[in-house]
Amino acid sequence: MAHRIVVIGAGYAGLTAAGRASRLLRGAHVTLVNAAPDFVERVRLHQAAVGHTLHKHRLADVVHGTGIELVIGRVTALDAQRRELLIDTRGEPLGYDTLVYALGSGPDTAGVPGTAEHAVEISGPDGAHALRDRIRERAGRGVLTVVGGGLTGIEAATELAESHPLLRVRLLSATDPGDALSPRGAAHLRRVFDRLGIDVHSGARVEEVRHDAIALAGGRTVGSDITVWASGFTVPGVAQQAGLAVNDKGRVIVDQTLRSVSHPEVYAVGDSAVLRRPDGLELRMACATGLPAGWYAAGAVAKRLTGREPRKPYTFTYFQQCISLGRRDGLIQFTDRDDRPRQAVLTGNTAVQYKEAIVRGASWAARTARSTPERRRTAGESPPIRATA
Ligand SMILES: Cc1cc2nc3c(=O)[nH]c(=O)nc-3n(C[C@H](O)[C@H](O)[C@H](O)COP(=O)(O)OP(=O)(O)OC[C@H]3O[C@@H](n4cnc5c(N)ncnc54)[C@H](O)[C@@H]3O)c2cc1C
Repeated sequence: MAHRIVVIGAGYAGLTAAGRASRLLRGAHVTLVNAAPDFVERVRLHQAAVGHTLHKHRLADVVHGTGIELVIGRVTALDAQRRELLIDTRGEPLGYDTLVYALGSGPDTAGVPGTAEHAVEISGPDGAHALRDRIRERAGRGVLTVVGGGLTGIEAATELAESHPLLRVRLLSATDPGDALSPRGAAHLRRVFDRLGIDVHSGARVEEVRHDAIALAGGRTVGSDITVWASGFTVPGVAQQAGLAVNDKGRVIVDQTLRSVSHPEVYAVGDSAVLRRPDGLELRMACATGLPAGWYAAGAVAKRLTGREPRKPYTFTYFQQCISLGRRDGLIQFTDRDDRPRQAVLTGNTAVQYKEAIVRGASWAARTARSTPERRRTAGESPPIRATA
């Protein structure tokens, strides 16, 4: 029987891994399992929240002619001893010889009371569409609060404020939004917040989300007609429940070849894995880091199945952070290799065009990993592009 490689999760990381594995290992049987029938460009979901229709990439079309078997269904359990997956749309368990775990992440709504009940989130299409509908119900008026001053919160607040000038947009953040930027980058961000009328509250710790208000540490309460939760991501519990070695957030712990430290037949990539560089730096959850990890993992699997060892560990060199600030402005913050900001930034329309090219490139790279040629010298390890969106 052909070696069975099953990739779970068809996001940036999983789709890349499946595509490349199917090309490198023509004798293997590659199956790709995903909860939804489309590849979702998560990095555009704040656009969906303001009513843009995102391009639909049907997974059936993406894998057409590749030999990859596509299973649409949600993985409900992993039996790591029997090497089987339970999928809600299949009567029979799905067996594997090698598993690539790429289930991504979702909103982190545990921990702060009221968040799951009263806040909306934009980490998946359902959340983004629910936010769009809530804004429409209020005819684009009222107070909208974005909680979380990281990149997702910044992108959401600016997109929403630009598209809905009658909304009063507030950004609550425990830290200073943009505190990881260079002085020039932070100054540009402040200018954009001012121009769009976004009311920024730094040092705000949310203790409870209510139907129409948010309670802050220190006893203050602020009114909020719509609350958008953009304060961190959490990962599906499938790996933890299966007994794979995970960190305190449930993310799979992998070695330097992206192989589970507890289950060598399992590789984990993208948001649901703890990706570290050989120098120990933990990589940010990002499509920028996940996509090349999917590419690398497929190469590592291929090497081991053909009796070789990966030549190099997985590594990643930061170069930039690409931040959209609505459709008419943006910020490209160039960084050193360790993700620390350099002085250089791009802003305005140049940044908009730059980020759009990166986002398109990442989606294209994930969808075409099947046909991306190997570079001769680094075959087996290098990503197809430096996807640093
Ligand atoms: C609004 C927003 C903006 C962002 N902007 C940027 C940006 O500018 N740059 C950047 O680098 N990153 C950005 N990110 C982060 C980026 O989207 C993620 O880091 C990236 O999508 C992770 O890729 P992944 O392949 O690990 O997971 P995902 O892209 O989340 O894909 C996971 C897949 O697994 C599927 N899945 C989940 N659970 C199951 C299950 N139980 N069974 C079957 N299938 C399942 C999902 O349906 C999905 O298709 C942004 C995120 C958001 C929400």
